[in-house]
Amino acid sequence: MPAPVAESILDAFAAIVGPNHALRDAGATAVYATDPRGLYSGLTPLVLRPGSTAEVSRILKLATETGTPIVPQGGNTGLVGGQLPDGSGSEIVLSLGRLDRIREIDLKSGTVTAEAGVVLQRLREAAEREGRIFPLALGSQGSCQIGGNLAANAGGANVLAYGNVRDLCLGLEVVLPTGEVLDDLRKLRKDNTGYDLKNLFVGAEGTLGVITAAVLRLFPAPKGRETAWFGLATPDDALALFEIATAAAGGALTAFELIQHRAVDFALRHIPGNRLPLEGPQPWYVLMEISSGRSAEDARGLAEEIAAAGFDRGLVADGTLAGSLAQTEAFWRLRESLVAAQKPEGASIKHDIAVPVADLPRFLREADRAVEAVCPGARVLCFGHMGDGNLHYNAAQPPGWDEAAFLALYPAMNRAVHDVVRALAGSISAEHGIGRMKRAELLETEPPVAIAMMRRLKATFDPAGIMNPGKLI
Ligand code: FAD
Repeated sequence: MPAPVAESILDAFAAIVGPNHALRDAGATAVYATDPRGLYSGLTPLVLRPGSTAEVSRILKLATETGTPIVPQGGNTGLVGGQLPDGSGSEIVLSLGRLDRIREIDLKSGTVTAEAGVVLQRLREAAEREGRIFPLALGSQGSCQIGGNLAANAGGANVLAYGNVRDLCLGLEVVLPTGEVLDDLRKLRKDNTGYDLKNLFVGAEGTLGVITAAVLRLFPAPKGRETAWFGLATPDDALALFEIATAAAGGALTAFELIQHRAVDFALRHIPGNRLPLEGPQPWYVLMEISSGRSAEDARGLAEEIAAAGFDRGLVADGTLAGSLAQTEAFWRLRESLVAAQKPEGASIKHDIAVPVADLPRFLREADRAVEAVCPGARVLCFGHMGDGNLHYNAAQPPGWDEAAFLALYPAMNRAVHDVVRALAGSISAEHGIGRMKRAELLETEPPVAIAMMRRLKATFDPAGIMNPGKLI
């Protein structure tokens, strides 16, 4: 167990941000040491809320000099425990929420320069006010922050057309553990001047440095958007429909979400206001979105063409296009409520996987068998970004089971499902990261050369090992 941080050192850290932004009272720090789902919790002697890059720099310099561990935290919505201190009470939480300025919107270059603590929803709204979109869209967008999105390399529903946040990031400002500031806030699409340093920090989960600001890409707002909800019999049908949609719409296909009926069933039962968009249940659903740069008619025409081909080929059993903005929003509300709808059904064991798109039906068949072998009667419910090959493949406890008894199966079930993923050359963490949750499995199963390279990088940037210890690597 690491030694507690000396009072004099805590005082020196607190002096950097001033008394109003250094929280020491256990009542005030608890919310920064626990994740809102209650899956992870820890202890911290101090939460620092810096108001500038210069303050972050002084904090990290002092941390390196005193060997004090620092845990960066954004909106605390991460799902793998990466943003939380451990239980030793020796890790300081660095909360970036006060760095919340949108420094510049440059419409000609198509960029926004925003500080790490800007909440994603606010950035999206700022872009919309200028007739642009920032396409990163997550269920947590009302709380998560740009710095956390970048550190986690967040994905979401629009990756299919716009890429994940790594693809949306042109420049970064990062504070290194030494206190040095890497000012790389460039707006360039092309820049081949040596190693791509910024991309080392995107997806690093706060283990190499602290992101304080970023230059992000903006896109023209589509002139037409059409949303469709299809009911299908099998994932194979969904895959065939995806091929049709890609061929017909190309880059205008901005979302293609696959959803199993059980996930929708939970959401209809437990989240008020939800309604099934179809006349009756189907085993699987696809939520598809087309965004046209030309016109509403163009988007409608493409969606109708895809729907007609799906019906003609017997792939789509039932389907509807949203007739209004309110209906579009209702479709997406239902999609976004799938995460929260699991809790009332008891414990669930989660997997955030990716496999090549063509292998998704095979993954589902084999993973279902693997789950059944570990826990007969476990209720698989699956939803996710089919167009990216990324599914949230979860298993809810059999009805009547004790939650703790089911959760005791977490390692065995993860292992069984991840074995299927690995056999298909997939990823065991498609968009939620490694954090605390998957660290042991990563170290055990990634190629030794890859682990050794990550360790060398970590030692180069953070020789004192102060940045988010015990996470990722
Ligand atoms: P936090 O949770 O605070 O931190 C996440 C990681 O980043 C931690 O390791 C932390 O140490 C590090 N970090 C935070 N800020 C910084 C910084 N400034 N510099 C360096 N490191 C930092 N994720 C997806 O990818 N796709 C989804 O569709 C999606 N949907 C979600 C839906 C719900 C309902 C919820 C609760 C979560 C969802 N997530 C999703 C996960 C989560 O919202 C994202 O990972 C998000 O990007 C995390 O942002 P945050 O600000 O909350 O970061």
